[in-house]
Amino acid sequence: MSQDDLSPDRGTTDASDARERIEAAVELLRREWRDGCNAGTTYQVAMQSVRRLGSTLPPAEAAELHAIVTDLERYDGLTVEQRRATLAGIADRLKRLAPRLPRRAPTPRPAAPERPPLRQPAARDRGTAPPASRLSTSLDHADPPVSRPIRVTARVAPLSPEAPVTALKGAGGATSKKLAKLGVETVGDLLLLAPRRYIDYSRTIQIGKALALRPGEDVTVRGRITDLQVHRGPGAPRVVIKLADQTGWMRVTWFNQYLANAMHVGEEIIVSGTLEQGPGPLAFTGPEWERASTDGDNVSTGRIVPVYPLTSGLAQKSMRNFTRQALDVALGGVEDYLPPALLEPLGGDGAIGGPLPVLADAIAQVHYPESEAQLKRARLRLAFDDLLLLQLGLVRRKVERRAFTGTPIDVDANLIQCWQSSLPFTLTGAQESALREIFTDLGRDAPMARLLQGDVGSGKTAVAAGAMLAVVGQGYQAALMAPTELLAEQHLAGLTRLYEGLPEEQRPKVALLTGATKGRERKTLLAQAGRGEIDILVGTHALIQDGVELPKQVLSIVDEQHRFGVRQRASLSGSVDGMLPHQLGMTATPIPRTLNMVLHGDLDVSVLAERPPGRSPIITARYLGVERSIAYDLVREQVGLGRQVFVICPLVEASDVIEAKAAVDEAHRLQSEIFPELRVAVLHGRMKAREKDAIMEGFRNRDADLLVSTSVIEVGIDVPNATVMIIEGADRFGLAQLHQFRGRVGRGSAQSYCLLLAENVSADGEARLETMVESDDGFLLAERDLELRGPGDFIGTRQSGLPEMTWLEGGFDTRLLERARRAAENVLAQDPELAAPHHARLRARFTKFWERAAPEKAV
Ligand code: ADP
Ligand code: MG
Repeated sequence: MSQDDLSPDRGTTDASDARERIEAAVELLRREWRDGCNAGTTYQVAMQSVRRLGSTLPPAEAAELHAIVTDLERYDGLTVEQRRATLAGIADRLKRLAPRLPRRAPTPRPAAPERPPLRQPAARDRGTAPPASRLSTSLDHADPPVSRPIRVTARVAPLSPEAPVTALKGAGGATSKKLAKLGVETVGDLLLLAPRRYIDYSRTIQIGKALALRPGEDVTVRGRITDLQVHRGPGAPRVVIKLADQTGWMRVTWFNQYLANAMHVGEEIIVSGTLEQGPGPLAFTGPEWERASTDGDNVSTGRIVPVYPLTSGLAQKSMRNFTRQALDVALGGVEDYLPPALLEPLGGDGAIGGPLPVLADAIAQVHYPESEAQLKRARLRLAFDDLLLLQLGLVRRKVERRAFTGTPIDVDANLIQCWQSSLPFTLTGAQESALREIFTDLGRDAPMARLLQGDVGSGKTAVAAGAMLAVVGQGYQAALMAPTELLAEQHLAGLTRLYEGLPEEQRPKVALLTGATKGRERKTLLAQAGRGEIDILVGTHALIQDGVELPKQVLSIVDEQHRFGVRQRASLSGSVDGMLPHQLGMTATPIPRTLNMVLHGDLDVSVLAERPPGRSPIITARYLGVERSIAYDLVREQVGLGRQVFVICPLVEASDVIEAKAAVDEAHRLQSEIFPELRVAVLHGRMKAREKDAIMEGFRNRDADLLVSTSVIEVGIDVPNATVMIIEGADRFGLAQLHQFRGRVGRGSAQSYCLLLAENVSADGEARLETMVESDDGFLLAERDLELRGPGDFIGTRQSGLPEMTWLEGGFDTRLLERARRAAENVLAQDPELAAPHHARLRARFTKFWERAAPEKAV
């Protein structure tokens, strides 16, 4: 019996092999007994296996099997004593069921197909007649990598997943420190380390095709070595080969002269890595490689191999060795933290709703998959776990918040009416309905927790002003927090304007408190606020420092709330005597509806999907190569008209030090070579917050014509006089971010322009830029971004306070998310504290997951 035969995800099961399955399950239950009734993987696998048989059996047997499965499901929740008492009985009933089922008729092996699909049959073959060498557990076989079925069998000297990595061969001392940098401290961490990508050595492309791609693409090619040189200096010693097939050749370099002994001219090898711009055509440096086998097209070791994240001094080969060891010694000890019921589809899940593999299977397959299909299911399971753990936390937060009371506000409709008619404009339909939603929330005695999402320029400030006026009208206070001093000042000015049409006695008293508010001024301000003489306090995180008291505060609003950590947000809304202020977050980052649930699953969301009328749309254009000079002509023309210009430098993922340097260099180039007559300023992420504010302030005061910046410019700053936004390397940014940049212009009445510059753009990138040219709708762009680039950009580092989710890339699916959400709600409805015995492991995992929540980001 092999793992393969028991694998719960094996497609259809017919009655003919039911008997074998049951016999196998009985065997597993025996092992479970020997392992001390720990309800471990063997038990899980046995249950998964028999559970799926039901529908294939004759009715009487199906009923009996159902009864047995029910008992098996309860088993997990029992104490060890109770398990021991029931296990033998269950196994016995299963055993007695087996002879009542037909035995599988010996199926003749199909005649050797002409060219079998590469991996699948190989896996099956190993399942039935494993060649001895494949079953060897020796790690010597880990390189070159060969996928073999991972057995769930407990090993001779098994390690617990909790064991430190240092227990593995070769992972002591300095190596363990390097592993720690990857977040790997225990053997279990290794089991759950997500490969960055996989190399499918069975799937190669022609060299000619590879050469037509762009640098940065990951590809696998196969060719013959036509030249091999060893360079021993100058420079680092290296081996350089020419690799050729019928369609072309490319240069491959390894900084390891000893490789020269391992390969020779005329030999055929497979190489997998990231394409780089060589001195001439595209090339590889230090790619993964292996020998192609000689038997025709069939690659003997042509399997799917994981590629792990690395840290300096840690080789891919070692990582594979470690995960391999971890699987060998600890997989048997992996216990699923999800109760089996959660692996079953909920009704109406659609295509994604198939049963998910048990954890041990998913882990085995995710490192050394036997097939693409197995890999996909494994990643789906692990992505589900990430989403479920996240949703458990968010749903719990939402539930916990209900334990507090808020102050119900009886909104004065007349006052609001009067204010609206005092405005120089009419609120848009979207603003009106957001306000209605907010007023309904305010009327409840439960504290509001709402997020207001609106594209740049959609008029969020006016909505905030309406909400604050509503509470001030009832004699309460409100606070509005922004991430920078400049934005706070902008809000003060904005609110003053928005309230200025009100009769004086109804006009809220608004004041500003930032880090720059010092000494006597601060003291007076705080005293006034403390006496309730100030209705609305606008500020930076200075608002949440000691000594700031708003005794009658019932509403707190956080602008660009994703820039604050969860805890900072919470402290603006600190509870007093179990009372929690109503909270409104605002963000200009449009988030696809489905992702709102991931990121803001603990909040209610209002969306301003409509922009105030009467703005002339920004002209967006895509420029290439020589057309750059057209862009520069436009700059001269606009500056000539007294306008100002932003230039965004390409995203440099390497580090913000390098990115900052790139911005400084570009500013220098523009100043000295292109625009000697203009005033050029520069802004980047290495500057202190104060410094950045000063530069922005200066730019707004027209101290410079051109502001060259890294992506730090992104958030909410208002320079109505700026009419041109040039984005260099535009293909490197996601649509959402490009749209944010574009929103920096077009804020005044003059015609504005957004110019997208990029060379050597991939087809995908070009499609993205095309979308930018075509659409001005942030939400539409966000949906497209999600389709094109996956959820990483939305969920990644940009979002503070969320736990790290490593499995979403490639495993994410909105239906899976919905499934996770519902599962989380179900679990918490029955067991709000995850205190039930059958949730013990889930609870431990949950705690660990949230402990790793991204550290609070400094603003
Ligand atoms: P954002 O959502 O980006 O914070 P703001 O609140 O700063 O947008 O509003 C952008 C500009 O639009 C402001 O000058 C504001 O006065 C104006 N505005 C807001 N609502 C409307 C409206 N309904 N009609 C016309 N102009 C509006
Ligand atoms: Mg704003």
